[in-house]
Amino acid sequence: MNLNKRLSKSIKTLKLYNSMIFDVRFREDEFIKKGYEKAMKELNDFFEINWQRNKPKIFLMADRKTIDEHRQAKTEKWNTGYVSNNDLFILAPENYNKESTHNFSEKEYFSLIKHELAHLFELVLSKNKKMPYWIWEGLALYLAGQVNDNKKPPKLSNFLDYYDKSGKGVYAEAGFAVKFLIEKYGKEKILKLLKEIKNLNSKEDFYRAFKAIYGFDLDYKNFNISSEV
Ligand SMILES: [Zn+2]
Repeated sequence: MNLNKRLSKSIKTLKLYNSMIFDVRFREDEFIKKGYEKAMKELNDFFEINWQRNKPKIFLMADRKTIDEHRQAKTEKWNTGYVSNNDLFILAPENYNKESTHNFSEKEYFSLIKHELAHLFELVLSKNKKMPYWIWEGLALYLAGQVNDNKKPPKLSNFLDYYDKSGKGVYAEAGFAVKFLIEKYGKEKILKLLKEIKNLNSKEDFYRAFKAIYGFDLDYKNFNISSEV
């Protein structure tokens, strides 16, 4: 794309997503409240913290258009939640089926809440430093009980591509990779790695930290997911 085309495209994007006004209302919702409290308790236990002050708030986004305007980008229809500044934003349950490719169930909606909350806990441990994307998503999938929403691949061969790159492809393997690490080597090691991330400045640093903690190289051949049940 030449410069003029690029400019006109970004101007178009700006014009498209220039709404700065949102209609926010308080809602009492027992189901979401219970799910939130259950997820917070389980995540506090897992991450070994006791999050009491400035707890995350949940914003229920009415529809796809609201999400796109809030993120100032066109989002994919499978995408139903995200985090921003210590809060989570999820598609409202009443429009969940209409505005996404998912089918609403209480179980799935709880997993969505827990998944997005897990991202916020990850940020607490890494001191807001963006971690390798495969751990960022893999750990959230694992903790939300969503690993098996994806078909188990015979072996892992692409999750390491998602270090600083994001994309839908990360979901295929990242959950299985993190599950393997936690169930084979325990959660303490992954918590240690997350806390280490704030001190790391490069991908090489991360690979070194991984090896120091796990005692083996971060390499597909060391992830034998077919051995687990
Ligand atoms: Zn996620």
